[in-house]
Amino acid sequence: MVVTRFAPSPNGSLHLGHAYSAITAHDLAKERGGTFQLRIEDIDGVRSLPEKADEFREDLEWLGLEWVEMPAQSTRLETYEAFARNLLSRGYLYPCTCTRKDIMAMKPRMGPEGAIYPGTCKGRNLDPEKPAALRLDVDRAMAELPELFWEDEVNGTQIADPRPFGDVVLVRKDAPASYHLASTLDDASDGVTLVTRGQDLYAMTHIHRVLQELLGLPVPMWHHHPILLGEDGEKLAKRRNSPSLADRRRAGEDGRVLADRLRRGEFGAGITLASA
Ligand code: GLU
Repeated sequence: MVVTRFAPSPNGSLHLGHAYSAITAHDLAKERGGTFQLRIEDIDGVRSLPEKADEFREDLEWLGLEWVEMPAQSTRLETYEAFARNLLSRGYLYPCTCTRKDIMAMKPRMGPEGAIYPGTCKGRNLDPEKPAALRLDVDRAMAELPELFWEDEVNGTQIADPRPFGDVVLVRKDAPASYHLASTLDDASDGVTLVTRGQDLYAMTHIHRVLQELLGLPVPMWHHHPILLGEDGEKLAKRRNSPSLADRRRAGEDGRVLADRLRRGEFGAGITLASA
């Protein structure tokens, strides 16, 4: 049975782009007689606003969606810690005390998601007083794993290669997991079979596929849907000043009508991976 999910971070209000993402995941599950899940990713981001989670639920209801809610990330910290300890004890993680400023001062190469960490802390004796993050030793992981693939309903079969991102952070200084670790573990424990999200997160899957292999997790399929763009070419989800779903709801707009307009593609233009 197909299980999809919408996994918003409660750092700000939802916009049309989020509505499109939630509707896509919802409809993909419903068309196939499956389940659509909501998961609040409240450790993904600098600051979580607990009241936003209620706002999100009201928004989804207003759009006419039905979902099963899974536990929020903040209730799963022990699981993240256990899996991180496992990776650390097997030598796939190393501590890193560098700050963002330190890294930028090293004039790092830029990858698809910004600065590539030059591996400065790898194998170094670190000041135990300084807060440390844990980074994935990506070369070590790739040297030991067989060639990995992932199946994307939109983009076809992909070879997983996270090396262009460098040694990404899996355990943050201020949280027991980064987005990569938490989201990958949650999708596995929630039984998600079709990870549905925007094309903007497509490249992240290279990292997640490798984590699944290192952690012995089940491997789902992915559906990376096109992103809604405004007429100015900017992502609707991030666009400043565009009314949030909550604003539209409170102004009395009919959410179900809005959802159907989104389904009909009346808003913005979808971008494909080639032009992303
Ligand atoms: N929490 C992430 C976000 O709000 C989404 C993660 C995902 O769908 O994998 O951007």
